[in-house]
Amino acid sequence: MSFFGFKGGVHPPELKAAAGKAIETVPPPQTAVIPLAQSLGKPAKAAVAKKDAVLRGQLIGEAQGMVSANVHSSISGTVKDVGPARGPLGTFVECVFIESDGKDQAAEFKGADLNALSPQEVIDRIKAAGLVGMGGATFPTHVKLAPPPGKKIDTLIINGCECEPCLTADHRLMVEKADDVMAGAAIFRKALGVARAIVGVEDNKPDAAEALSKSASRHGVEVAVLHVKYPQGAEKQLIKALLNREVPSGGLPMDVGAVVQNVATAKAARDAVVEGRPLYERVLTLGGGAAQGNRNFLVRIGTPFSEVVKFAGGTKGDAMKIVSGGPMMGLAQATLDLPVTKGTSGILLLTERETGPQRMFPCLRCGKCYDACPMGLRPALISRCVEKRRFDELEGLDVLDCIECGCCAYECPANRRIVQNVKRGKAEIAKIRRKRKEKEDKAKAEAAKPKA
Ligand code: SF4
Ligand code: SF4
Repeated sequence: MSFFGFKGGVHPPELKAAAGKAIETVPPPQTAVIPLAQSLGKPAKAAVAKKDAVLRGQLIGEAQGMVSANVHSSISGTVKDVGPARGPLGTFVECVFIESDGKDQAAEFKGADLNALSPQEVIDRIKAAGLVGMGGATFPTHVKLAPPPGKKIDTLIINGCECEPCLTADHRLMVEKADDVMAGAAIFRKALGVARAIVGVEDNKPDAAEALSKSASRHGVEVAVLHVKYPQGAEKQLIKALLNREVPSGGLPMDVGAVVQNVATAKAARDAVVEGRPLYERVLTLGGGAAQGNRNFLVRIGTPFSEVVKFAGGTKGDAMKIVSGGPMMGLAQATLDLPVTKGTSGILLLTERETGPQRMFPCLRCGKCYDACPMGLRPALISRCVEKRRFDELEGLDVLDCIECGCCAYECPANRRIVQNVKRGKAEIAKIRRKRKEKEDKAKAEAAKPKA
């Protein structure tokens, strides 16, 4: 097939030191701290109470409303508490604390034959299993599989790019569980009712492409090998690279007839439908110069980061920075006292040298950030408007299209804090729009009042 590429982007060092390391299993934690907010949208509501006995895979949090996802226990034991603890964003969220009984006893999982299920039954199984986008976006998977009437989907894309430096969890999953990933792709294709499904893999993972290709014809899924470029794993860039379709400003992949799912989500869909097993564990990469080697681990949801690090042999020297996710788009964290969640693709322990230069210089107006931005934005101008608090000017600059990829900051020779400023700009726009709506609603209510 032809490839079309995408504008902008960068080529950071790959640093994929764990690419050849097989997935190892971290033992279940003694206490699992499982956040009820693990997806975009509304947090789940606790379905258990203190002192309840639970089994591995049992529902402990019920999705609330359309954009929300169920949450399941990752161990068997007793609910110690339901209360606040640090969640995936480093803020306090409602969590279920489960003390292990050491038995790791599973609930009864009921698998199904895909051929015997209707598309809606497939979606229902995926919804019940609490699947979310495991590349980091954590959007509830069942919502993506049910586009609104009028949106015609013709292509499913399975995202196997894993373009972030350091991360190799998806890579290993594609090598070691290629057939399951392809079976998951076929499950998504059935749910969406589309004829075409493509797995996109970058050419720095030839072993993954080879493993997937062996299963491709059995599941009727194409494998496309793309030249490495960051951020090719972002939905809009992958759609452009594979299908030459541009998602409009403010739009979604479904606006151009595509749905994108991550390879780990595809594997989880296979487990949910074929085995009836909910999402209670995931593969992640532990890496960075302050980690004892870079490795890939299968980890139960709710396991503290500190236990993963301990299992791997502790730290090597001082970690200057803890990152949840990859070095380009991941979130800096203040502590290892955080639970692994469905969206945790990596834990990085970075040294001082790896955190890069800290000193910031005045903008040189070199334009490198403009060239690097894959969304065609004007990062320096946006950043300047935010610094000068000229928030009204932001609306004409398409700030909400920013995918927070970090290409602008990566290319900036002056080390400007562009991404932080753009994120702040997005929050300010949301605030301006909220206030405008409140004002409009108030004016409408006034106008509707009967005249005296
Ligand atoms: S402005 Fe946003 S989308 Fe553009 S390069 Fe910077 S972070 Fe990426
Ligand atoms: S890359 Fe940095 S120095 Fe160059 S224009 Fe953008 S913000 Fe300014």
